[in-house]
Amino acid sequence: MSGESAETAEDAGTAAVRSAEAGGVREEADTVRTGTREKAADAGVREDAAAAAAAPVRDDGAATGPLLVAEGLKVVFPGRHGASAARAVDGVNLAVGTGEIVALVGESGCGKTTLARALLGLVRPSAGAVSFRGSPLAYGSRALKAYRRRVQLVLQDPSGSLNPRHTVYDAVAEGLRIHGHRGDERAVVASALSRAGLRPPERFFLRYPHELSGGQRQRVVIAGALVLDPELIVADEPVASLDASVRGEILALLLRLRDQLGLSALVVTHDLGLAWNIADRVAVMYLGRIVEAGPVEEVLTAPRHPYTKALLSVLPESGTPPVVLTGEPPDPARIPGGCRFHARCQDLASGAAAKAGVADACRGTDLPVLDGTAPGVACHLPEPNPTTPPP
Ligand code: SF4
Repeated sequence: MSGESAETAEDAGTAAVRSAEAGGVREEADTVRTGTREKAADAGVREDAAAAAAAPVRDDGAATGPLLVAEGLKVVFPGRHGASAARAVDGVNLAVGTGEIVALVGESGCGKTTLARALLGLVRPSAGAVSFRGSPLAYGSRALKAYRRRVQLVLQDPSGSLNPRHTVYDAVAEGLRIHGHRGDERAVVASALSRAGLRPPERFFLRYPHELSGGQRQRVVIAGALVLDPELIVADEPVASLDASVRGEILALLLRLRDQLGLSALVVTHDLGLAWNIADRVAVMYLGRIVEAGPVEEVLTAPRHPYTKALLSVLPESGTPPVVLTGEPPDPARIPGGCRFHARCQDLASGAAAKAGVADACRGTDLPVLDGTAPGVACHLPEPNPTTPPP
């Protein structure tokens, strides 16, 4: 539990819902996504073309197959004082391709932050493996240092991740110094700030975090990740602490980095609306496992897992009254038998599962680990054809 306790104790799960009428959700979701794309375009107008031209072009010629892969990944934290061990990550298969943005979505405590930390090499898995560009992750300090140059973390709270006594320049240059960069430090820092949308960069060099807006601070954090020219960033709730007016700009920035630099990203979030705005694929996580995965349009316009439907229903755009999930919030030290969502499942509670003849299986038959690298759902309910629009 120690690792999981790092996740904030917000409980988004008290509000969940009956599945919204799929057509309505699709329309609303399209509206949200279109809006963000417009914001992205607006932000793009403000972009300095010179910054894009100055950005390094990644040679992805050798990139075949997924960039980052988790196979059968498990992270178990031993219980204290005789308590049960917490299976924070309990068998996850996931992949992020080159130039792909994958959203990992779930409530606080579902294991998504622990999974992200394991993918970064910050937590050593209890079982399974992480590989990057086809090579298994090595856990020696030198190997990890080299790996973290290629895979960077962007934390959710820019105020907390920036040292208030460090200038913007020092904050962004820190990674270069740690990795012993020998080139023109000033030019590289300026380039990273430009790519993060802080231009002219020299204007920001000597500023301190308290002199910046929330959006500018988040851009500094992103510049600190970009300065090492990573191939993938892991962004943990990248806009959760920002005002709505700034969220669109930061999301537009991440999309532009993907489009212009080929940067891959794993975005960890509790917000399916954010996933809709930015991701190519989405993986929905519940109690240590991925329960639904697929292309974002498919998962969010025609969700199949009751938990995904519940998360979608709390979006303001869903247009349907939210329904409170029954049962206890997730506890990775007490994972129930059968479907691990069964104590809270609205389809089981409503009798829909019984009507489909799967209620006993819901309560007593474990589901296999989902292959989160491909579209799929972990649920005993019969699957409709995902390509067939719901009635
Ligand atoms: S398997 Fe049963 S309990 Fe689990 S999500 Fe599906 S319908 Fe609900």
